[in-house]
Amino acid sequence: MANSDSLEFLVEKHSKPVPPAERTEILMNPGFGNLFTDHMVSIRYSEGQGWHDAKVQARAPIPMDPASSVLHYAQEIFEGMKAYRLADGTTALFRPEQNALRFQKSARRMAMPELPQEIFLKSVEALVDIDRDWFPSAEGGSLYLRPFMFASEVFLGVRPAKEYLYMVIASPVGAYFKEGASAISIWVSEEYSRAAPGGTGAAKCGGNYAASLVAQAEAIAQDCDQVVFLDAAEHRWVEELGGMNLFFVMDDGRLITPPLTGTILPGITRESIITLAREEGLEVSEEPYAIDQWRSDAASGKLKETFACGTAAVVTAVGTVRSAQGDFTIGSGGPGQLTEKLRMRLVDIQRGLAEDKYGWVKRLF
Ligand SMILES: *Cc1c(COP(=O)(O)O)cnc(C)c1O
Repeated sequence: MANSDSLEFLVEKHSKPVPPAERTEILMNPGFGNLFTDHMVSIRYSEGQGWHDAKVQARAPIPMDPASSVLHYAQEIFEGMKAYRLADGTTALFRPEQNALRFQKSARRMAMPELPQEIFLKSVEALVDIDRDWFPSAEGGSLYLRPFMFASEVFLGVRPAKEYLYMVIASPVGAYFKEGASAISIWVSEEYSRAAPGGTGAAKCGGNYAASLVAQAEAIAQDCDQVVFLDAAEHRWVEELGGMNLFFVMDDGRLITPPLTGTILPGITRESIITLAREEGLEVSEEPYAIDQWRSDAASGKLKETFACGTAAVVTAVGTVRSAQGDFTIGSGGPGQLTEKLRMRLVDIQRGLAEDKYGWVKRLF
């Protein structure tokens, strides 16, 4: 079996990269997730050989056998992270070792092999290195990185696959929500659940997203930006959005966020916000928060603000909540003070504008 620590990447530069003028055009207004850089990383895994065949090469379609097991049983996991260009021109990642660790946890849950953390980090850095000219020029832009892994074995039997393909692609991105969106509206899904006790809610797997899409479509049909899921057992406890964790700001200054009981994705942004809020002297409670409580606290003014957070959108205020029981507004319906403060604290650290006392920013080159 190949010694993973000594895995070397074969680097083959794209022979026809996007011409500089076209790239500059793209980077002025990249949108979110439609456009990609010139290269990609791929590493194969097989039971016999372990991790092998590591490459950085031109981004291209991947030939796939119709019996590849991911197409049938959805053994697939992913990560989402951003590379930033700091004020001084250095490129940096935000807590990438946390993504490496979570990728291993997701793999364990999906009966997939765990990619060693140093290979994960090396793969991401290699892609940022070769595509370093792809950082958006627009304010607030970054290079979104998408490491993922799927079962590539050609086999229809039901058992964990014996072969996998790990890849990383990159997309220059601007703001996640359309410009001018200061607070989002969310739809409470009462019919659909995202994750159940004992299920895969804490793993970052494609299947969770597949399960969330019909509810997200319902949210859009209800004229809302995002869907919020309740717990699957009682349909009472507020869990999270399809891809973002939630925080509630109370009038006594306390922050509440739902606890990580296995049905919620442990967000790295969530964890960072908890740390920053405690540093501000705020009390943060990881405790269940009921939908009826949310509604009555919003009405009484006990609840001041609500925000969602995740790598893609960082921190986003929730202004209105809509459900079959009617709508309610949080605060004035716009971004609250604490939401703005915590967002700025985090963004300033991510961009190298504020002291990084926890060593979260990993400078590359
Ligand atoms: C990725 C993700 C998040 C946010 O995690 P971050 O590490 O903060 O980006 C939250 N919820 C779900 C369901 C996710 O998939």
